[in-house]
Formats: sequence, structure tokens, C-alpha cells
Amino acid sequence: MFYRRPMSTVDLAAPEVGPTVEEPAWSLSPSRALDFKNCALLYRFRVIDKLPEPPSIDAARGTVIHAVLEKLFDLAAEQRTIHAALELTEPQWRELLADDEELAALVAEAPGGLPALLQSTGELLDSYFALEDPRRLEPAEREVLVEMALPSGVHLKGFVDRLDRSAAGDLRVVDYKSGKSPHEAYEGKALFQLRFYALVLWRSTGVLPRLLRLYYLSDREILDYAPDAADLEALERQVEAIAAAIVRARETGDWRYKQSKLCDWCAHQAICPAFGGTPPPLPEQVELPDAVDR
Ligand code: SF4
Repeated sequence: MFYRRPMSTVDLAAPEVGPTVEEPAWSLSPSRALDFKNCALLYRFRVIDKLPEPPSIDAARGTVIHAVLEKLFDLAAEQRTIHAALELTEPQWRELLADDEELAALVAEAPGGLPALLQSTGELLDSYFALEDPRRLEPAEREVLVEMALPSGVHLKGFVDRLDRSAAGDLRVVDYKSGKSPHEAYEGKALFQLRFYALVLWRSTGVLPRLLRLYYLSDREILDYAPDAADLEALERQVEAIAAAIVRARETGDWRYKQSKLCDWCAHQAICPAFGGTPPPLPEQVELPDAVDR
């Protein structure tokens, strides 16, 4: 099932097929599934305790890039130039900063302030234009929410950056990353998110996406992957296992921590037992939410 944002202007040609999705008991996005896989306690902190995390300039820059690349395709094809993208950048940054005082303070203290961020955002947009000419394509969807229900009842949900449909009806799932491409050994993890979307699209529309594409803007790399049915079936089993483990953790209250390199970026070290901290008591009612984040 697709939930289109009002600004989405182009419909997928394929009809929606498959069973009607009933009111979900709870939902899982690729990011939260990966959180649980990496560290159940991190999932708990983010999803059950809903603990705030400090803003990050890199994440904010990524948000701006995504918004600019989405809005770029509102323009007529011949107007989708780097100049037009740069013109969209400053209003997008200002909108983000107006909504988030903490981020605004962080930016004010960062070396070079907003002008330096406009510069670095522009460099990443330059990279995008080096990888792709947006005048030569018409996306089928942008920032579209896709959703399906697994047999166990959990709903898989996520926002796809862009969907392209060829004249022959083939689907390409596109995601923009403002960071660097991963080492070969970590490509599988990087592709988890897009394989997750491919599974949802396949199960909800009957169309198996032909290609998954990641644009890495920091080092101007493209990662392509062609999924097949066996691959997505294996992913479905894996996601069902993660969902079942989350339900078990909810029932037992056993949200185990797992240390890894990711701890270096974890905002919750101070309350994590791995670092001598104590987690807050669990809420009386542990709810698994239906909300989905981006
Ligand atoms: S610091 Fe590491 S082990 Fe602790 S919650 Fe964060 S990711 Fe998990």
C-alpha cells in the first residue's frame, strides 16, 4: 500500500493489489529493525523509552539534501540544474533551524556557521549532479511511504526516497546517502534498508523491483543491487525473526545490550550498563508503536 504525500505528483502506473491492510498492532521500519539487530537495548531506548537524542549537523545536512532533491523534481525537467538545487538549499536550512532551537545553537557554534554548511551542502549536491542528470528522468514517486503486513501481524513500513518506473514497468528503488560508500564487507548492511523496501513493494504491489540503487554523495559512488525472489524471501524470514525477538523482549523485559563499534556514536552511553550506567525503569505499559520514522 502506498501513502502519498500531497506534493507527490506522479502515480505509479501499477494498480495496488494484495490484501487490504488492517489496523496494525505495531510497526517496524528498516532503521529500527537494524537497531534491534545491533543492540536490543538501543531499540528499547529509542522506541520504548523514546529518549531524546541530541541533534547532529551531519544528520541535518542529510535532511536538507533529501528535501532539496525531492523538491528539485517539482520543477520542469529543463529547470533541474545545480543552480536551481543551490537556490533551494538556504531556505531549506533556514526552515530546519527555525524548527529546532538546539540544532540552531549547534550550527551557530560550528566553525563557519550556516555559510560553511551551505558550502558543504552545495558540494554534496554537486556530487549528485556528477552521478545523475535529473533532467533526464521523471520519478514515479518521491518520499513515499510503503507498507505491508507480515503473517505475524507486524507492519513493515518505511519512506522510500525515490521510485523510478521504466517504460517497460520495471521498478528502481533509489536512496540518497550524504556519507561515504561502505567497504565491500559492509555493503550487505547498507543494502538492508533497500532490500526491506523492495520486499514491501513486492508483497504489496506484486512487482519485484528490478534494481536497488544507493547514491553516496561524499565519495561520488553508486551501489547497485538486483534483488531476486529467493533473496527477498530470505529477508522476509529474517525480518519475521527480528519482529518475533522484539515481541519476546517486550514480554520478558529482557532488552539486552550488545557492544559494537556503533557504541561510539550511541547517545545513550551514560545510561548503558556496558559503560557502567543504569537504564531508567521500563514504563508500566510497554507499547510497540505504529509510528514510523524517516
Ligand atoms: S552504548 Fe552500545 S551497548 Fe549501550 S545501548 Fe548504545 S549501542 Fe547498545
